[in-house]
Amino acid sequence: MIGGVVSFIGLGGNQGDRAGHLQAALLALTEHPAVRVINVSRVYETEFLGEGQQDAYLNACAEVCTTLPPLAFLGFLQGIEIAEGRRPNTHLQPRPLDLDILLFGGFVQRDPGLFLPHPRMRERAFVLVPLAEIAGSEIFPDSRETVTEACAKIRRKDGSGVALRPEIEIWAGP
Ligand code: AMP
Repeated sequence: MIGGVVSFIGLGGNQGDRAGHLQAALLALTEHPAVRVINVSRVYETEFLGEGQQDAYLNACAEVCTTLPPLAFLGFLQGIEIAEGRRPNTHLQPRPLDLDILLFGGFVQRDPGLFLPHPRMRERAFVLVPLAEIAGSEIFPDSRETVTEACAKIRRKDGSGVALRPEIEIWAGP
């Protein structure tokens, strides 16, 4: 594959074989002819922070390069979620696998079907901590802040529930 746009995606899940679902997602990304996986963060275990009670999540981030347009890329990611057992209409509910497009090149768009940069990522330590590992100097195209700066802010507020799990290895490199 030549050319393409660099995108960062968030991977997470809190049901079933959590590491296995993350691993399966990376494999599916690797196997798509229009997607190349460039780098993957380490895996973190994170407490559920929303309403009610849920099991802890595993989270990681990946840097990919793709020639797919953004909506086609999102559709591909949603197909992976379904293949890993995600049921329809489970927004904000427990799920085996959640894949979000965090950044897609310098795209800024406010379409609810695909909002870029991802609308809630800057409020989430479980996204920014793994993302900062592989994309610290990346600049948000809307706020001009770096990922490292956004991560430092959120860590001061709610970074305590994000624990590195170095023994969980999900990617062996390109
Ligand atoms: P979730 O249940 O958190 O996976 O949210 C899925 C919904 O968010 C889908 O309807 C997507 O169309 C929408 N969405 C909006 N922006 C994004 C994004 N940047 N990445 C992934 N899903 C998005």
